[in-house]
Amino acid sequence: MKALAIGFKPSDLGEALAVLNRLAEALGEELEANALIISKEPFKHGGFHKIYHVKTASLYNSIGSIYKVMDDLTVDTVVSPNIKDGVDLLGRVATKIDGFMVTEVSSIEKIDGDVYLARPILGGRATAYYRYTPGTLFTYTVGKFQPIDEAGEPDVIEVTTEPGSYTVVGVEEKKRGAVDIESAEVVVGVGRGFRSKDDIKMASELAELLGGEVGCSRPIAADFGWLDEDRWIGISGKKIRPKLYIPIGISGAPQHIMAANDSKVIVAVNKDKNAPIFNYSDYGVVADLYQFLPVFIKVLRERLVK
Ligand SMILES: Cc1cc2nc3c(=O)[nH]c(=O)nc-3n(C[C@H](O)[C@H](O)[C@H](O)COP(=O)(O)OP(=O)(O)OC[C@H]3O[C@@H](n4cnc5c(N)ncnc54)[C@H](O)[C@@H]3O)c2cc1C
Repeated sequence: MKALAIGFKPSDLGEALAVLNRLAEALGEELEANALIISKEPFKHGGFHKIYHVKTASLYNSIGSIYKVMDDLTVDTVVSPNIKDGVDLLGRVATKIDGFMVTEVSSIEKIDGDVYLARPILGGRATAYYRYTPGTLFTYTVGKFQPIDEAGEPDVIEVTTEPGSYTVVGVEEKKRGAVDIESAEVVVGVGRGFRSKDDIKMASELAELLGGEVGCSRPIAADFGWLDEDRWIGISGKKIRPKLYIPIGISGAPQHIMAANDSKVIVAVNKDKNAPIFNYSDYGVVADLYQFLPVFIKVLRERLVK
């Protein structure tokens, strides 16, 4: 099996190698793994036959060079981390080579002699299995495959940066605050159970006590504008994987929880004992947040200060 892994940063290559090794093992085939890295600086990783380096920070201004590498290499599959640029690039490559693409693959399974790419659907309540055939491209969920460190010094081939059929002449950064809820270890989620913007202070206080950040459901950011869009958790917002997620007054709609159910521990607070969020939670507090939070914060503050 000949494969190409796309990487944007050094840690992508160890993970991609784990994904490709698992695929080759399931298929019972020898692996020839190649990598294409898109970054300002080149980086190396053992276990790859060839590493192509496109020296750019902009995916869009180098798309032509990526197609050129694809023309040089005939591969059975292309994989990429399931990040925005990876999904975007793989979609373009799939269209160009007339391939089939699957996103968010979290495991590779062999069932009755066939190899399947598995990905969660319906907010993690079900798993879809796509039978792998050569020509299938896929993005894998970051953190699901144990990275492989392999010794070796593969050649790095510099690829001339070429734009595709269009060039990006300028990029205007979206105005954003300093918050990075995607890498926060603790996230306190604010939902429509909060009655006003002012009440969110309670969630901020809790987050501060726990050394975390405040996140929110879509209505809080998109409809009410009570919090910045940087804090919006969900399929159309940010994906979080904290050690602790505390959704408060959030019902647990699939579009929200799908982007949070990789959290290590989820402790939900909701006044409705039948709220779907409890199906995804490790611990649940059935309570009115207006009664629960002041007491919880007070007790926590006393314990933490001691
Ligand atoms: C295409 C599409 C994309 C979407 N993308 C996203 C997304 O990225 N992120 C996202 O979050 N949503 C997204 N949504 C919206 C999603 O379907 C839900 O509507 C949204 O997540 C609901 O937000 P919520 O849980 O805050 O509000 P609600 O569903 O209204 O839930 C409020 C919860 O608060 C509880 N509650 C009320 N008062 C209290 C109280 N005093 N104390 C304790 N609990 C209380 C209620 O019991 C209820 O469970 C998307 C929808 C679509 C169609």
